This record gives sequence, structure tokens and C-alpha cells, in this order.
Amino acid sequence: MSKRDYYEILGVSRSASADEMKKAYRKLAMKYHPDQNADDKEAEKKFKELNEAYDVLKDPDKKAAYDRFGHSAFEGGMGGGGAGAGGGFDFSGSFSDIFEDLFSEFSSGGRQKSSRGNSVQRGADLRYNLQISLEEAFKGKQRNINITTSVACEECSGSGGEKGAAPITCTTCQGRGKIRAQQGFFTVERSCHTCQGAGKIIEKPCRKCAGSGTVRKDKTLSVNIPSGVEEGTRIRLSGEGEAGMRGGPAGDLYIFLSVKPHPFFKRDGANIQCNVPISIVSAALGGSVEVPTIDGNKVKVTIPEGTQSGHQFRLRGKGMSILHSQARGDMYIHTNVETPVNLTKKQKELLREFEKAGGANTSPESSGFFDRVRVFWEDLKE
Ligand SMILES: [Zn+2]
Ligand SMILES: [Zn+2]
Repeated sequence: MSKRDYYEILGVSRSASADEMKKAYRKLAMKYHPDQNADDKEAEKKFKELNEAYDVLKDPDKKAAYDRFGHSAFEGGMGGGGAGAGGGFDFSGSFSDIFEDLFSEFSSGGRQKSSRGNSVQRGADLRYNLQISLEEAFKGKQRNINITTSVACEECSGSGGEKGAAPITCTTCQGRGKIRAQQGFFTVERSCHTCQGAGKIIEKPCRKCAGSGTVRKDKTLSVNIPSGVEEGTRIRLSGEGEAGMRGGPAGDLYIFLSVKPHPFFKRDGANIQCNVPISIVSAALGGSVEVPTIDGNKVKVTIPEGTQSGHQFRLRGKGMSILHSQARGDMYIHTNVETPVNLTKKQKELLREFEKAGGANTSPESSGFFDRVRVFWEDLKE
């Protein structure tokens, strides 16, 4: 079976920049990641293929070799068409680099050396999407969330060896994790097959975790949501991400908050907007209306005589809470004068009588408008 072109796998042109390739890689890696595609063999194959392609193309030396000689650059001998699956790089060791890269916006630690000198790896960061109500965003809240994450295996304390036995130095690579190999014209350094690049091997793997040092576990975490959080606020729970490999530190858990739309309050930063319908009678004669506030109370708003639709009242300090502050925004009430519907015969008569009794100054806005329209028509005639 012939191998697919690495550029084709990434979906980029041969002249694509490192940045373009990285972008293309990230997009596809998210799409085919095993976490997103449990038990999907096709996605798993694509994911492997993608990692293999990017591993070569992100490395200027490997890329140059590939551009010149194609796949045969990595197949044991120059032009050796029949090298098959036996040759080539071992890509398993480079997965970690790619993943650190993928989450590098979040991770600050990254790869580090442990005191024993072998390469340890920080666990992946996790993202949890949490939707809260506007009231919860106002008050703040303690919420419990359930997540499944990998944690250090208790049986072997994360060492991966039976009864917690420490791993021994790999004899193939003398603990370097990498071996030098002649590939065509090139001497390339590649991950050690024996230890998968770790530099250490486990003689007797722990039975509980099959030597990985980590197990999947359900956890319940209590999240403190401070008052005044906004759509897109990120809360970091340090060390609550995936467990590190080979004794590395755990990643972090990021909670991404989104706020549910409210049936009648609209948030506008620290302020709250609220449309309040008022009857034509209270708009004309004046009156009062009780409006709800985000803190669960109500406020009586005085409607002055002759209030129009779209009039704005400000309720100072009745808006949203502000993150890390005691202050509150304001609330704005927008009136919406409601035209009466479903009138009885009597009501219609009263309105006709009202119209007969009234002069032009009960509706200055409309008489002014129709005066202007009359002038407009007359001007047209001339
Ligand atoms: Zn274990
Ligand atoms: Zn090794």
C-alpha cells in the first residue's frame, strides 16, 4: 500500500509556512483526536497518519529530506521501495511533544527533567464547559462538577512498576531516549523503540495500570464561581487536569463559563437592561409599576404623566455585580406603551368620545408629523 503524501494529509500546499502547517495540524488533530472519536478505527488511523506527517513537516531537517526524497527518505535505504512498515521513524515518542504544543497556550510547565534525569511529562490540561444562569453570575455560586480524568495509579504510586518498583535505565539507548541511525544519506536521531523515548523501562509492569502509571478516575470537584463572572470567564483549577507521565506534574483544569440568556433581563457589561410594558392609561395619567431586580427583590418605579414608549429610567446600583468589586452596575428600564387590544363596545365608544373631546395638543408628536406631511404633499404639487 502506498503512503499518502504528508502535505496532502495536512491539507496544505508544499509552500505552506510553518504557521500554516501548525494551524492545519491543530484543526485536524482536534477532529481526529481519540477523545473525540472513541472506538473509531478510521479516526484512529487518520490521527496516527496526521501525527506522522506533522512530525516530519514541523522539523526543518526532516522536511528538507522529505521534500527531496519523499517517503523513501525515511525507509532504511535510498530508493528502497519495499521497505514496508518495518522502517521509518518511531512516532510514538513524539506524541507528547505534539500534545504539549497543542495545549501550549495553557501550559506553563511543559517538559522537564526529573531529579533522576529521565524525561518526565506534564499532564494534559482539561477543559470543562459550564453553563450558569444570570442570577448565578450575579450572586456567585459553589457548584460541584463531575469529571473523568487520569490520576496517578495508587497501586504503584505512578511508577508503573509492580509494587512501586522504579523503572530501570534502558539498555538500548543507555537512558538517552533517542538513538542515532543511518537513513540514506542522513544520520538521524530517532526515539528509542525499546523505551518509547522515556530512557527508562519497566521490568514488571504494575497490573492495575498496565505499566502506564495512571488510571482513569471519576472525580467530583467543587468549583467556586465568584460573583460578577461574565460569558467566557475561565476558572483554573491548578493540578486537576490529567496526571503527568513518568512522575511529571498534573495538568490544570479550566472551567469555561457561559451564561444562559435570561427571559427578561439583558446584560450589558455591568448594567442590566429590561423592557417593561406599561398600559396606555398609566402612560397618559402617570402611575407606578413594580419591576423585578436581579438580586431577587423588586423596585417601585414612578411613571410620570405623559410617558412615551422607549423612555428610559435608570435605577442606580441595581445592575450586575462586578467581578472582584463591591460595586454594582445600574439597571435601565425601557418603557413600552402597550396599545389596548380586545376592546369592548363600551371601551371603543369611550375612546371615540375621547378623540372628539381632545384637541391637537393631546398628541403633539403626531399632529406635528402630519403637519409636515401636508407641507411635503403641497410642495410636490407646485
Ligand atoms: Zn500502577
Ligand atoms: Zn531506550
